Amino acid sequence: MSPEPGEVRELFRSCFGGAADGVWLAPGRANLMGEHTDYNEGYVLPFALGQGIVAAAARRADRRLVLCSAQEPGGPADVALDGLAPGQVTGWAAYPAGVAWALAAAGYEVPGACIAIDSDLPAGAGLSSSAALECATALALTELAGLAVDRRELAAIARRAENHFVGVPSGIMDQSASLLARRGHALLLDCRSLETSQVPFDPGASGAGLLLINTRAGHELTAGEYGRRRAECEQAARLLGVPSLRYLTDVAELDRLTDPVLRRRARHVITDDQRVLDVVALLRSAAGDVYAGIGWLLTQAHRSLRDDFEISWPQADMAVDEALAAGALGARMIGGGFGGSVLALVRADAADQVRAAVANAFARRSWTAPEFGEAAPSASARRLGLQCVLVARRMQCGYVMRRHGSRARSPNCGTRFTASPR
Ligand code: ADP
Ligand code: MG
Repeated sequence: MSPEPGEVRELFRSCFGGAADGVWLAPGRANLMGEHTDYNEGYVLPFALGQGIVAAAARRADRRLVLCSAQEPGGPADVALDGLAPGQVTGWAAYPAGVAWALAAAGYEVPGACIAIDSDLPAGAGLSSSAALECATALALTELAGLAVDRRELAAIARRAENHFVGVPSGIMDQSASLLARRGHALLLDCRSLETSQVPFDPGASGAGLLLINTRAGHELTAGEYGRRRAECEQAARLLGVPSLRYLTDVAELDRLTDPVLRRRARHVITDDQRVLDVVALLRSAAGDVYAGIGWLLTQAHRSLRDDFEISWPQADMAVDEALAAGALGARMIGGGFGGSVLALVRADAADQVRAAVANAFARRSWTAPEFGEAAPSASARRLGLQCVLVARRMQCGYVMRRHGSRARSPNCGTRFTASPR
């Protein structure tokens, strides 16, 4: 999976006229367990997907960042790097521009660049296309400049771009997964200490698989509900006299909260933190088949997100119920909520049944048909060494030496695009 490097190089040519210096891939992520726990300083357990965003990039001689995306028609966005500040760039280009801004704010000299984006991650489906876009941009810009930035720091920089430049108050999970995850592993992230550990996670080896069900119901994280949940969690922690809900492990302590809504919100966070630790214990146990236990925990998490945190949506509830009835080991909504995807743990021999049951249930209600994909624990963001070129109208691919800090062959990424003056 993941978009073709040859195609994004072609897109680069058609946007900018010249050749890209390199192609970088950053994966999306699915979160196995721990939803809305990150900003409560709790635990999360994401893994990188095979699907992601690719960025073909080249340095420019001037101080502009010029961007185009296969998924965003409307011509290149042209951003002046000097004096760049939050609020100056809106729409999709705010994510890559925000990365350039956050890198500069962290003291890194960001070069002018042309970047072409392509993706096989649905945007807004809870698979973190936004972080993938940020991380692909961050890797491309730092490697074009020959800067070696520690990946944890890069994750923090990409998060700052999303929080302060785009204006979405998300946690550190998505960028950490995209930059730090390993193939065949989930990433246990303690959002209080920011410590991470790799947890072996290879359901395929046990005859199970993870099915992604994009319910095609859109979400809009900036639209208020995410911020409201965050504020409710902070209020609950304040009333209970702890710095964050992470400091609580016993739901009995929530009896001190008189507001039933705050009690339910806090109960979700405390129980989901525990479910993360339970999944990790299962994965690290020597027991033969741990997937029935993980499936049960997934379904418990969905009920908690639906009933206590109240961020599920009808298509997700239906997909979970139908998947379970058709033999899935467990399923839950993933992501920020109010739209996006469901993750179902399914034995290989039940996968077709589960897909058919969910698709039929959606068709019966005349809902937009869901999209199915595979969620395989994959490698983190990286420069793609495979260079593909069109020779006599046929794509030819070969491995090339990795170059760091290379200069664009053409000072302004080619001749077809001329930067408009600001
Ligand atoms: P998620 O991260 O769950 O996919 P978000 O709402 O956080 O959803 O981020 C989606 C936004 O990221 C899109 O609205 C768009 O602005 C940007 N984005 C994602 N993928 C692309 C892409 N391929 N090209 C341009 N912008 C993209
Ligand atoms: Mg996002």
